[in-house]
Amino acid sequence: MEPAIRTRALGKRYGRTWAVRDCALEVPAGRIAALVGPNGAGKTTLLHLVVGLLRPDAGEVRVFGRDPREGTSVLADVGFVAQDTPLYRDFTAAELITMGGKLNRRRWDAALARERLAMLGIPPGKPVGKLSGGQRAQVALALALAKRPRLLLLDEPIASLDPLARREFMQALMGAVAESETTVLLSSHLLADLERSCDYLVVLQGARVRLTGPVDELLDTHRTLVGPRAGSDSVTGVAEVVRASHTERQSTLLVRRGDGPIDPLWTEHQVTLEDLVLAHLAEAETGVTTEEWGVPA
Ligand code: ATP
Repeated sequence: MEPAIRTRALGKRYGRTWAVRDCALEVPAGRIAALVGPNGAGKTTLLHLVVGLLRPDAGEVRVFGRDPREGTSVLADVGFVAQDTPLYRDFTAAELITMGGKLNRRRWDAALARERLAMLGIPPGKPVGKLSGGQRAQVALALALAKRPRLLLLDEPIASLDPLARREFMQALMGAVAESETTVLLSSHLLADLERSCDYLVVLQGARVRLTGPVDELLDTHRTLVGPRAGSDSVTGVAEVVRASHTERQSTLLVRRGDGPIDPLWTEHQVTLEDLVLAHLAEAETGVTTEEWGVPA
């Protein structure tokens, strides 16, 4: 099946700085994919390239096999909620749903959006500018889901939500995906929330893809090992040491497993998504030089 998103050598730069560089990525259809990385890693830029808001300076991006900047046809299948959920603040949620119907004549599920907002207790007649940040995020999601997109892109959608609302939001998203086979790519810093709901991972750092793949595979191929400091240079059964920390006698390694069993001198532990992402990020450099801050290197 055609992947929902495919990029090859994709790059975008602002002046001399690459915001996204040499990005080769594939998000298979039907996945809920997490896009994570530190501030300034290039997440928003990548999402804007995927929806065709930005033109690549290098390489290409395809959405269901098509260039998002070529005509408007593939964009009818794409829902996008930008960071800070920009909505017309003087409009009410009910008015925005009606307006969405006029802008998306081909497919618009107004009932879905109304039911969702009613269930969440969001007043339909209040200007959205007077709703809380979290309520506005819910309105933006309801509008995006009403489009019944094949691909839904969300830029930090849960940052402004309380823990309960975050869980509800992610569950609603999973429900929508299961029902309609929507593919989702969402950026977030909240790794624990993502672990429960996302089945695909893209880690960006310093404009480059640092790690990507199905979450279950990545968790299965990585381990935390605790063992003797002396033997930490080369451990049998380990393909790559992603991150190592040491005390005087003991070493803790986050590793990618190789073929065969791990040296029995080492105790193996499962990794969490958070361990995995943080270990990979810690090993890569930020790409910002001290000179850019006026600090001599
Ligand atoms: P955050 O987690 O803080 O939202 P991000 O991963 O979404 O960050 P981007 O907003 O994509 O990162 O920014 C990537 C890089 O591109 C950063 O170095 C940023 O300073 C730069 N950048 C982004 N937008 C512009 C712009 N309009 N003009 C110049 N530089 C930009």
